[in-house]
Amino acid sequence: MTNKQDYYELLGIGRDAEKAEIKKAYRKLAIKFHPDRNPDDPSAAEKFREATEAYEILKDPQQRAKYDQFGHAAFDQTAGFGGAGGFGPGFDMNDALESFLNNFGGFGDIFGGGGGGGGGRIPNRGHDLQVKVSLTLEEAATGVKKKIKLRKQVACKDCDGSGAAKGSRPQSCTECNGLGRVRQVRRSLLGQMVTEGICPRCQGRGSVISDPCGGCHGTGTVRGEETVEVRIPQGVTTGNYMEIAGHGDVGERTGPTGDLRVLMQVAEHDLFERHGDDLIIDLPVSPVDMMLGVKAEVPTLDGRVALKIPAGTQSHKIFRLRGKGMPRLNRGGHGDQLVRVIAWTPQDLSDDEKRRLDELRDVLAVRTPAPDRHLFD
Ligand SMILES: [Zn+2]
Ligand SMILES: [Zn+2]
Repeated sequence: MTNKQDYYELLGIGRDAEKAEIKKAYRKLAIKFHPDRNPDDPSAAEKFREATEAYEILKDPQQRAKYDQFGHAAFDQTAGFGGAGGFGPGFDMNDALESFLNNFGGFGDIFGGGGGGGGGRIPNRGHDLQVKVSLTLEEAATGVKKKIKLRKQVACKDCDGSGAAKGSRPQSCTECNGLGRVRQVRRSLLGQMVTEGICPRCQGRGSVISDPCGGCHGTGTVRGEETVEVRIPQGVTTGNYMEIAGHGDVGERTGPTGDLRVLMQVAEHDLFERHGDDLIIDLPVSPVDMMLGVKAEVPTLDGRVALKIPAGTQSHKIFRLRGKGMPRLNRGGHGDQLVRVIAWTPQDLSDDEKRRLDELRDVLAVRTPAPDRHLFD
């Protein structure tokens, strides 16, 4: 027993690891090395067994304390510590498979959720749905209530969702005694293997129907509609989503209802460009106003505000209007609005205007800097 690897090292965790961390580490290893996933690799099975043994000790505070103090010797029965309930040297593959089942409710569950045909923890749970909701930037800024119409599976009215024809009832499945899951024990090189899976007779429902409802062909659900009202908070952006429990497809034969995910899509705005919580707007200003300074008016999401543009402002200079941007989602406060001043050149000058500007050109003797001199601010 002395050559055994340290339990903490084996699970790849620190000696101060919390319960949840231990479980997570074990779960990862157990999935990777489970014998059913590695049928031809005895070393994987041994790793599975070791990891399970380590987990069984470390998850129990008393056993863990003993292990921390005495190491593996604490569980070596010849050393006299091995009390009732402790795992002696005989923690074998069967123990490991059993405790794996007890900890995670079975092989089917841990690998479920799409891959394994059963699809998810509960076989007759309704599907989760996803729906997109389109918002204007203004709606995203103020928050808004939206009514969303869903096409989804709803309970069949003829049978109230049971799937059984009027006057009949679903019967408990005799194959699994209504549990929906069956266990198989088989012998292999490594000893006895216990696996658990979805009952083939009732597909995990736990009940069977001898006289199916005509309206839903025994599934208990039919295509229908539901309108949900969603309150969208202020500050959302494209890609944000809300999860609304219990508004997905209704489960077959009164199984649990799936969830609804509402995905936000915020439209582009004609004036404002959004960068996170900041908004950017381009403000055209005449070159004369930029030279002499001017008080401009700038549109914001809540009305126009005055902006003082000082004399000698260069084109593309950015002014910051603090707190005039988008509200910050779930954090309070607002981003800023950035105003980019753009020199706007008139293209329909009259002959008189041209003549007077020409005079100014001589008077001002303006020298523009060469592009290779960093004179712009
Ligand atoms: Zn069954
Ligand atoms: Zn029906």
